[in-house]
Amino acid sequence: MAAHKALLAFLPRAGGEYARTRNYDYGSMQRENVSMLSPWIRLRLLSEWQILNAVLQVHSRSSASKFIDEVCWRTYWKGWLELRPSVWEDYLVELAKDRERCEKNIGYMQMIEARSGIAAMDAWTSELIETGYLHNHARMWYASIWIHTLKLPWTLGAEFFLRHLLDGDVASNTLSWRWVAGLHTLGKSYLAQKSNICKFTAGRLEVNIPLATESALVETGQRITEPGKLPSHDESIPNGRIGLLIHEEDLSAVDWLSDSCELVAVAGLLSPAAYRKYGIEESVIKFRSDCMRSGLTEKAEIFSCPNKFAEWAYIQNLDAVLMAEVPVGICKDVILDLESSLAARGIKIIKRRHWWDTHLYPAAGAGFFNFKKSIPSALEKLMQT
Ligand SMILES: Cc1cc2nc3c(=O)[nH]c(=O)nc-3n(C[C@H](O)[C@H](O)[C@H](O)COP(=O)(O)OP(=O)(O)OC[C@H]3O[C@@H](n4cnc5c(N)ncnc54)[C@H](O)[C@@H]3O)c2cc1C
Repeated sequence: MAAHKALLAFLPRAGGEYARTRNYDYGSMQRENVSMLSPWIRLRLLSEWQILNAVLQVHSRSSASKFIDEVCWRTYWKGWLELRPSVWEDYLVELAKDRERCEKNIGYMQMIEARSGIAAMDAWTSELIETGYLHNHARMWYASIWIHTLKLPWTLGAEFFLRHLLDGDVASNTLSWRWVAGLHTLGKSYLAQKSNICKFTAGRLEVNIPLATESALVETGQRITEPGKLPSHDESIPNGRIGLLIHEEDLSAVDWLSDSCELVAVAGLLSPAAYRKYGIEESVIKFRSDCMRSGLTEKAEIFSCPNKFAEWAYIQNLDAVLMAEVPVGICKDVILDLESSLAARGIKIIKRRHWWDTHLYPAAGAGFFNFKKSIPSALEKLMQT
């Protein structure tokens, strides 16, 4: 499978080499200095624990510490948003207003069509559209120039990324844009510098306009984001016929949930319509459904709408459907619809959270520095499993 091949190929480079070179964006033809695993990690076709387990078979914890931290940034963002679901809801409200306000904004249209005249920005826009990927540093520069130099709404930039990135993830993307804007740690924003861009693109890309040296004042109607409580998901599994539902937020559930009880049937659910509502590119939707197909046995059906899944569950005579919890974001609406379709047929939904998330999400209440203190105990647990 492509994902596992890519992981195996990257493993020897996940130690010191990654730490030394990861910040360089040498262009789309030369990406050996980073893993490029994000589209699969996004779906947990490769899970964080599986990757780190593989890395720790080859490297010591200290030599792979940078890579471990980066993988854990993803868990941090996921946990941070789970503790504050209103941030996504507020983002959507703000996005709708900004969309209306900027419908005819020429600067915005030129940006997303790679016609801004700013050479580096146009190169990144084209790369994003053509490949569905941007290097982490390029994402930071891009978001910074978008927000602080061009003073375009951060919400529209986040939306543009989410539409095109193969790894587009509601938590990592929205929260990274907020971080660059200065909304994550108040008063701390990220300002791109020409010298930094020149150094880390090895002189490949030029920014032919002066860059902001001060943060743009980013207005936000967002609510105060104190961390809330995570749902416990400890409902016991009833007796009777239990089916497993696999969704695109956690394809690894086919492994970690199969031992929970005797399962009589397995099926996938991925709703292209839900993605289209958010303008997600067809290539991204196709990639995700191909990945789901590859993660399930040939026998397992994949449904594209909650109602069809509920009909199938009814025909299978299921008493309950077991599934991994769905994080905040696009798939959540689909699962809410599914819950009512299943309830109408007298079928229960039982959700579970993987121990990795149970261990780490509560630590995402504050900054990454604090969160990091919980990583060693998660790795200890990983080594024991
Ligand atoms: C504005 C902006 C938007 C972003 N949007 C997304 C997104 O939608 N989806 C996404 O997965 N990442 C996002 N990132 C984080 C990061 O840029 C990508 O995860 C990384 O570039 C993917 O490339 P890679 O797999 O080669 O990463 P590597 O450097 O090889 O890192 C290994 C893995 O660690 C995780 N990771 C690394 N850096 C981060 C980070 N800063 N935040 C979260 N996870 C990280 C990813 O799962 C990645 O695959 C965004 C960053 C910024 C600045």
